[in-house]
Amino acid sequence: MSHDLSIEDTLSKFTVSQQSGLPADEVRRRQRKYGSNELVEHGGKSPWKTLLEQFSGTLVIVLLVAAVVSLFMHEWKDAVVILFIVILNAIIGFRQEYNAERAMAALQTLARPAAHVRRDGHVGEVPGFELVPGDIVLLEAGSLIPADGRLVEAANLRIQEATLTGESQAVEKKATTTLAPETALADRVNMAFMGSSVVYGRGVLVVTATGMSTELGKIADMIQTVDQEQTPLQRRLDTLGRQLAMIVLAIVVILFFTGLFFFSQEGQTFAERARVMFLTAVSMAVAAVPEGLPAVVTIALAIGAQRMLGRNAIIRNLPAVETLGSVSTICSDKTGTLTKNQMTVAVLSAGDQRIDDAHLAASSEQEQSAGRRTELGSQIDADPSFALLVAGGALCSDASLDRSKTGERIVIGDPTEGSLVMASADFLCSKEELESRFPRIAEAPFDSERKRMTTVHQVHDGEPMSFAPLLSQPSVVITKGAIEGLLDCCTSYVLGGAERDLDDVRIAQIKAQHDELAEHGMRILGLAYKPYAANGDTSPESLERDLIFLGLFGLVDPPRSEARDAVEMCAAAGIRPVMITGDHPLTAKSIATQLLFDVSAGVLTGNDLERIESDAELDEVSKRVSVFARVSPSHKLRLVSSLQRQNQIIAMTGDGVNDAPALKRADIGVAMGITGADVAKEASDMVLRDDNFATIVFAVREGRIIYDNIRKFIKYTLTSNTGELLVMIVAPLIGMPLPLSPLQILWINLVTDGLPGLALAMEPGEPDTMSRPPHPRDEQVLSRGLGWEVIWIGGLMAITSLAAGYFYWSPDASDHRYWRTMVFTVLTFSQMGNALAIRSAQQTLWKIGIFSNWLMLVAVSTTFILQIGVIYIPVFQDLFQTVALAPRDLAIALAISSLVFLAVETNKLLTRAADR
Ligand code: ADP
Ligand code: MG
Repeated sequence: MSHDLSIEDTLSKFTVSQQSGLPADEVRRRQRKYGSNELVEHGGKSPWKTLLEQFSGTLVIVLLVAAVVSLFMHEWKDAVVILFIVILNAIIGFRQEYNAERAMAALQTLARPAAHVRRDGHVGEVPGFELVPGDIVLLEAGSLIPADGRLVEAANLRIQEATLTGESQAVEKKATTTLAPETALADRVNMAFMGSSVVYGRGVLVVTATGMSTELGKIADMIQTVDQEQTPLQRRLDTLGRQLAMIVLAIVVILFFTGLFFFSQEGQTFAERARVMFLTAVSMAVAAVPEGLPAVVTIALAIGAQRMLGRNAIIRNLPAVETLGSVSTICSDKTGTLTKNQMTVAVLSAGDQRIDDAHLAASSEQEQSAGRRTELGSQIDADPSFALLVAGGALCSDASLDRSKTGERIVIGDPTEGSLVMASADFLCSKEELESRFPRIAEAPFDSERKRMTTVHQVHDGEPMSFAPLLSQPSVVITKGAIEGLLDCCTSYVLGGAERDLDDVRIAQIKAQHDELAEHGMRILGLAYKPYAANGDTSPESLERDLIFLGLFGLVDPPRSEARDAVEMCAAAGIRPVMITGDHPLTAKSIATQLLFDVSAGVLTGNDLERIESDAELDEVSKRVSVFARVSPSHKLRLVSSLQRQNQIIAMTGDGVNDAPALKRADIGVAMGITGADVAKEASDMVLRDDNFATIVFAVREGRIIYDNIRKFIKYTLTSNTGELLVMIVAPLIGMPLPLSPLQILWINLVTDGLPGLALAMEPGEPDTMSRPPHPRDEQVLSRGLGWEVIWIGGLMAITSLAAGYFYWSPDASDHRYWRTMVFTVLTFSQMGNALAIRSAQQTLWKIGIFSNWLMLVAVSTTFILQIGVIYIPVFQDLFQTVALAPRDLAIALAISSLVFLAVETNKLLTRAADR
């Protein structure tokens, strides 16, 4: 407990300095001592549980019963093979599921936010679990508190602690108070607790407790654990599976009784016949009921999530992968997502003067900053209002500069502010120097509703900086932000070193200049200041009024080149890209035009949206307009709801604290990995590591491929099952004995479903993946002709394999093994042909290339070799009741089974010809 200690006592208790943080070796020592800063998870699925589940399916249990029955009847061969097949099935199932779960667990750790920690005098990003007591953590609006700690700095800091106290109102925090030891948790205003989040302001925390010793750790058992919920597709598959199971079971029961009473084989007792028929019925049920479908979906989704990770998209919840494929509208931020977020000051304007920075085009960084300094530096120094503009921009910023490992200058923090800090470093002096001359004493942080921020600084007597004469008071207020709002807060302006009344003429002039720059796609920030009336009131309302307008910055931020391609790809894929930005409409329009957004319906602003009251009218607008500017987070929420009313599936990006509700509401909430607040990430379904619009489009493409592959798998499994079932049903109808023995059925099911099925999940995707409209999210599993294909392909499989058998069968023969082996072989081979043909729904195998899915190639050839083994190796002949086929007959079997392959391929050609 540290709430009863002063700041100094807390720091010395944890032997750490606030300015430099812990040294690296001390961090390592404490990590060993205190362990990982994690809550011990409850309810995660253990490998054992996964393994056990493989044996707990109803059909597996029936199969085990069948094995036991066989043992009792001294049919040990059957028993052994059944057991062997059950175990092999379990191993395959376990491996797949275990890998899928591991992949997901790995994703989950990635999705956890990192903390900004000061160690060895440097601020860096540290994964939350590596924190130790004594670490100095920087907090800002949107941060999640990563551990318990004593606040050593708090500027307007408000924290939401509902997870711990149940209190949904954010609590105002104060670092300077020292509390009585018995103060209740909810009243410890100088502490911050793991699991709560910063809604406003800024602060610095020294960690006092980590992991299970935190307040959250103490109640961790009460915190709900992650439970695996089924995705919508899985639920639909579950229903479909159950319906199919009922049909299959009915058929199997009929077959069992007809077999029992109508097919007597010579020399067979009733008990023997009952056993064989029971085994047959069980194997058929096992083979024909598509039990594994929901599990395959999980695996396909997990594989997809992993592939997306390779392209910088972190999936935070699995069902999102599936929904991504149905996205029909992508609502995206502009700054950083569609642009590079490499902001640079290009224009400075103060008084009646304007400086355009010609050195932006200079190639190297040295050239740039040197050029900027020599040519503009003197100009800026000469005019006090320019100097104050540059200094004010840096002072009223939270960003800082650092050197990357390669020695380049990099911005830590918001890129917009980074450009101002950079300009100051080039033209005037470093931000550190400015801050030591004009220390910050109060602030009103940036928020995207006000679209501005304010800081208050001390001014020392006799300050030698050139702009000092403009600052006559002991302290000064500096505000920067969007021009329109800022001008409303100003009553005067500076011209030629003198203060004048801000009249309409001047306002019009400033706005005209602003518009001219914005039309070139620049982001504009205005700067204003005033003497600080030291009355202790630091609310934005009091600070941001009666300001003196000083000038403005024009920032350039080039559009991302890949964003343009991604927007074009959206158009082809029937997805509407919508830009939703907090920036000015003219800036938005310029960038939107460059990136080929649809600007034909104009640009709408947040104010325009405010004026729309009825939902119907809003829907009318959101249907047409694709660029929205000067919007605040609450508008985002309204837009999402409006688009959802029109049955659109929305992906919506967000980075700020206030974006969380819109991210939650959207079908796919997309958070920014680099600039996004923790709270936004927590509310999202997907995090973009590179903040790039193109990554969203890539993820959508991946989502579509995965959905296609799942459908391919379903089609494959169901056609195979139909084929097997039909062979068994039709044979008795045309007077033949049952063509397949129980073990043969189980074998076909094992080798055909397992490997090729998984290989289908690896399909690289159809060429038209992104040139067709999205499929509706709730479409039926068997839609778009899938049900029909299952029936005709399955039917064809049954007909060809039975025909092959019929040719070799004679009614009066007593040995049925030869023709049965033919049926068995043709059926297995035609399923391989089917697997190859199903790989693409439109392109022939020759077009997509046999080698484009090596796993499928392995699966098919392995199955082929195994089948040959089962026919020709004596031990297996004995177990599976097969006989060696003459080479000529093997060739015939191959030829017949290729019919299914040829039929499916021909069908593709015909459908495509009909489409044209
Ligand atoms: P975007 O949707 O483009 O990311 P933001 O909500 O970040 O837009 O910013 C909206 C407006 O707020 C900007 O056009 C700018 O005028 C102002 N603004 C942005 N960042 C800051 C900041 N750090 N300080 C002051 N004003 C800012
Ligand atoms: Mg922003």
